[in-house]
Amino acid sequence: TAALGQHTQELVDINERLTREMEERHAVERASHAKDEFLAMLGHELRNPLSAISSAASLLGMPAITTEIALRARGIVQRQTRQLSAIVDDLLDLSRAMSGKVVLARRPLDLGKLVETCLATYRATGRAGMHTLTDELDPAWVDGDPARIEQVVSNLVENALKYTPPGGVIEVSVQRIGDEAVLVVKDNGIGIAADLLPQVFDIFMQVSSALDRSQGGLGIGLSLVRRMVELHGGAIAVSSEGCGRGSVFTVRLPAIAPAETVQPARPART
Ligand code: ADP
Repeated sequence: TAALGQHTQELVDINERLTREMEERHAVERASHAKDEFLAMLGHELRNPLSAISSAASLLGMPAITTEIALRARGIVQRQTRQLSAIVDDLLDLSRAMSGKVVLARRPLDLGKLVETCLATYRATGRAGMHTLTDELDPAWVDGDPARIEQVVSNLVENALKYTPPGGVIEVSVQRIGDEAVLVVKDNGIGIAADLLPQVFDIFMQVSSALDRSQGGLGIGLSLVRRMVELHGGAIAVSSEGCGRGSVFTVRLPAIAPAETVQPARPART
């Protein structure tokens, strides 16, 4: 019976090893599949702006071109090159983040002020489109890299705009809660299904739906956002009541004391 027991144990061990190996192989296959999809998507994302630019260039070369058409062609070139630059920036950031080469240039900054400036740009340039963009911004100081924090804010706001149909509402708030500076970006857009919520920060992950694909994107924005937040010692979370019920992204960063606690004294009036 001892020999039989040993035999059974060996079989159990082999079975466990095979299961483990199969799981590992599946994980590798999933990762490789995600990478293949990413490359295909990257191809599309680069080709679309390039063909638009090429068409605009052909228009500009027409002999009887009107000023109106020339201006429209210029608009296309400007928008599409902006799109291409954003893709290239994301790719470079991604490779830096993956190889651990992101260096933060930190200084005390007021998150509320930074978000205010960021939203003002959206409003002034009409990028909020048909959406209503509301804000409630309290002072909340953090020790952060302004460029990186701005990247976090704009990624979240841009996603909210992208995944919310026109006419939707995007609410942005900054508050100091205890020893944390808390940024919330809430939309009433397409929302995220509960089972897909844990995946939204995964690299190359697009929680696929017809609307997502029509919106383009590479599925790297949120993984970069999470990386930047974590490099600052913070955390990011997402919640959604489900499809069609909007999404809420919450960023928590360690708060610091305000940099300007001493107000400059006003000259006394006589
Ligand atoms: P993408 O380039 O696809 O926008 P992200 O990394 O920014 O990539 O987002 C990953 C996925 O998370 C998106 O493809 C989308 O499915 C989902 N997502 C992100 N933000 C929102 C949002 N505000 N509302 C609904 N879905 C969102």
